[in-house]
Amino acid sequence: MTTAPITRQYPLTAPLTSVPGVGPHRAEAFHSLGIRCIAHLIDHLPHRHEFEHAEGGIANLTPGHVGAARGEITACRIIRKKRSRFEAVIIDPTGRLDVVWFNQPFLVNRLRPGMRVRVQGKVERRGPMLQMANPLWEELPETGAEPEARAERLRPVYPATDDLPAYVIDKAIQAILPAVLPQLTDHLPEAFRKERELPALAEAYRMMHAPQHEGEVAEARRRLVFDELFMLQLGVHMRRAHLRATMKAPALEVNDTIDSHIRKRLPFTLTDAQNHVVKQIAGDLALAAPANRLIQGDVGSGKTVVALYALLLAVAHGAQGVLLAPTELLAEQHFQTISAMLKESRVRLALLTGSRDAAVRADDAKRIAAGEIDIAIGTHALLTENVRFKELAVAVIDEQHRFGVHQRAALRAKSDDPTTMPHTLVMTATPIPRTLALTVFGDLDVSTIDHLPPGRQPVATRWVRPPQIDEVWTFVAQRIDQGEQAFVVLPTIGSNTNGAIFDETDTTTQPASGLRSVHSTLKALATGPLADKRIAAMHGRLSRDEREATMQRFRAGKIDVLVATTVIEVGVDIPNASVMVIDHADRFGLAQLHQLRGRIGRGDHKGLCILISEPTTDDAATRLNAIVKTTDGFALAEEDLKLRGPGELIGSKQSGQLPLRLTCLPRDIDLLMMARRDAAHWIEHSPTLNGPQEALLRTRLMKRYGSTLGLVDVA
Ligand code: ADP
Ligand code: MG
Repeated sequence: MTTAPITRQYPLTAPLTSVPGVGPHRAEAFHSLGIRCIAHLIDHLPHRHEFEHAEGGIANLTPGHVGAARGEITACRIIRKKRSRFEAVIIDPTGRLDVVWFNQPFLVNRLRPGMRVRVQGKVERRGPMLQMANPLWEELPETGAEPEARAERLRPVYPATDDLPAYVIDKAIQAILPAVLPQLTDHLPEAFRKERELPALAEAYRMMHAPQHEGEVAEARRRLVFDELFMLQLGVHMRRAHLRATMKAPALEVNDTIDSHIRKRLPFTLTDAQNHVVKQIAGDLALAAPANRLIQGDVGSGKTVVALYALLLAVAHGAQGVLLAPTELLAEQHFQTISAMLKESRVRLALLTGSRDAAVRADDAKRIAAGEIDIAIGTHALLTENVRFKELAVAVIDEQHRFGVHQRAALRAKSDDPTTMPHTLVMTATPIPRTLALTVFGDLDVSTIDHLPPGRQPVATRWVRPPQIDEVWTFVAQRIDQGEQAFVVLPTIGSNTNGAIFDETDTTTQPASGLRSVHSTLKALATGPLADKRIAAMHGRLSRDEREATMQRFRAGKIDVLVATTVIEVGVDIPNASVMVIDHADRFGLAQLHQLRGRIGRGDHKGLCILISEPTTDDAATRLNAIVKTTDGFALAEEDLKLRGPGELIGSKQSGQLPLRLTCLPRDIDLLMMARRDAAHWIEHSPTLNGPQEALLRTRLMKRYGSTLGLVDVA
């Protein structure tokens, strides 16, 4: 570690130009990394550490060993054969070193005679010469302030840019480190730290920036990762405690009469798994504090009736319920299933979706506000709309696992009294990996419907290449001849007029030539292998009436094959459909593929899902293999987390709320569990962190999560 004399002081808020060697020009380069003051600089952590050998003169390098030296490049050249070979000669006052890099032709643009470099690598003797092959190298500043020859050390390697090489950052940090460390105050009490064997904050930063050995890096990381997770958990638990303490919800108690009344409406007896979750929900809803529960159950596990139970509980108490679905198609389907179940009852239902007639919608909205509708069913968009309820007691949000602070605020605004909000149940078939569930959804209670209703068998999945597509259609025709029905899913709608291809969600023209679409497949099938079958299209550009009519005909068995986009992805429940063909399967995510195939095998026939794909990336092939291999949605979700990282999985919006810089899940699960337990305990004893010892912790927490977690109104 460089020992800069502590003659100067560096307050944490001082600008970067106060750092030796950082002028206005360099400061600009630091700004582009978001580093504007000393505090930012010290918080710029290395992403790895590299063992750096002590430098000696070239003459002292030992053949057969790794060594380091510096000198001036006096000549270089590239030889391009089957593989390129870039050679350079480096001299220092003690001797000459030949260096060669294979397959790095770009070095032509990076290294040139006259430059000073440091190289590190294994030294070999080539005749009279010393040589290094493929050494690590770095450029040294051309003039003046050349860093001193380095002793052996573990060197931090910092995230850098083209304008700001890592060694400049290294040098700046080393220069201020001794003066800055004493200023770093710890927000964790010493006893708390000691008990968990966590180093003090200043010590953790020292060990990150100037570790004496690998063990120190690990120790520092443990403290900083804990901090990150602990802060998040504190925020989440603080908000939860706040909501519990300040918000009311109607207490909806269950008794035997109500329970048997509700169950009489359901067309089957609930499974043990469903009963278990219903019991948990009933426990929540009986309290006057708003429930906030996530109900996860794999596709087909029977979440709808569980939701209906909760909604009917609200109705039994003279209050209202709302069921929100992600697509119109699904809202329509829920409306139909629930209408059928409640046919003989007095429960009044309304369907509120964007494609309904405006006058009808307005009328329904009026009746909801007047309390003349008991259960409203609509799309998630209903949240943002100006629909008011007379007394909304239960909100079920189906097929969503991204339900954040803002949506909850929207729900709150649905009633006149700002201190009441409905009990909220969020249902998802995209199981959230346990690790993530604990971080982002730390304030949710989680219920799991952990087995499928009787008679359901897992869907078998096969992956075939496009040349086999004709065999696939022959097979589909056979299954149809046996009275079964099929879905064919494509990534795009396509167009039969001008050949332009549209995406389901994005209606701008896509130049995705060669991609089979709903329209092109429909045409090919109807005039080819499935010419004698009844085929229809289903996608988001059809009107609601068209969609509903088609779904009804498909449900009634008057259509054999539905060629569709992912509008049928979630929720669609047609028991007689047993075959699904997913074309261009590599264009779908894992969760999506699992959802899609959850549409089949819901009845007596064994489900078969056929993926057609010629994947162009390894990643896509990995996904396809995973979906073929496993039918367990939870296992797939963990796999997805590994492949895509948490950001993608929970949506970019939410990942913005998850500033976990150092944490690596699931690797850091133990620290996560510890942080969660500690935070829960802490908040239980001090819900608003207003104690005199907690001021610093509170300030830092508010700074980080005040707005994203909506903590600003807490106390
Ligand atoms: P999810 O929404 O969890 O994917 P659904 O609620 O659509 O699943 O239910 C899947 C299928 O299982 C539906 O056809 C539903 O009628 C049926 N089902 C649900 N619960 C039961 C049960 N207890 N016994 C028999 N069938 C059930
Ligand atoms: Mg469902």
